[in-house]
Amino acid sequence: EYEIFLLGRSNVGKSTLMAELTGHAVETGQRPGVTQAPNHFDWTHPSMVLTDLPGFGFMAGVSEADRERIKTDVIQYVERYADHGLVAVLVVDGKAVIDIIDRHTGPDEVAHVVELFAFLQDVGIPTVVAVNKMDKVDDRDERLNELCDRLGLPGPWQQWQDTIAPITAKRGSIDALESAVREHLHEAGRDDV
Ligand code: GDP
Repeated sequence: EYEIFLLGRSNVGKSTLMAELTGHAVETGQRPGVTQAPNHFDWTHPSMVLTDLPGFGFMAGVSEADRERIKTDVIQYVERYADHGLVAVLVVDGKAVIDIIDRHTGPDEVAHVVELFAFLQDVGIPTVVAVNKMDKVDDRDERLNELCDRLGLPGPWQQWQDTIAPITAKRGSIDALESAVREHLHEAGRDDV
């Protein structure tokens, strides 16, 4: 069974996106400990599941220690199941992500989302960043270019359309994500999906 890892901190719109992808309402888990038994959801193909994993970083009502443990759990899960994982989808809030990254970047600090993206690349899982809530973003190209810059992807974002997928999950505008994922599945020889 193959997996698509879906990662993102709370409130980025992960449940909304899951509902679009699976065609039914889902409740994603953001509670501490959820990664010990991650939620799996059927996707359009019987041998394919979506695995919901919490992102790193701030979660309301979760202590620093619990956050660290969640992070360790996510890393362990992804490393352990990297062979099954065809694609990782990292969901971010397009309106907030640059501010959050810049606020948490310093001489001794790497923002969680940047760290998570780098980790997924290191493990060798093709990663798509689903940049959600684009309906709230006015300066679309500028914002997406900034995101590429922060993630270490050189050049204009249009060069990274299999990695950067601007979406508005709430309105069901997820074409960019679906084609990016399909592109990676194609590269993995999974045209049957
Ligand atoms: P989760 O915690 O990541 O599962 O996030 P939810 O799916 O529960 O969404 C969090 C909030 O963001 C809700 O109020 C959603 O209605 C809102 N939201 C989700 N997707 C979008 C979007 O594309 N645009 C806007 N403006 N809001 C969205």
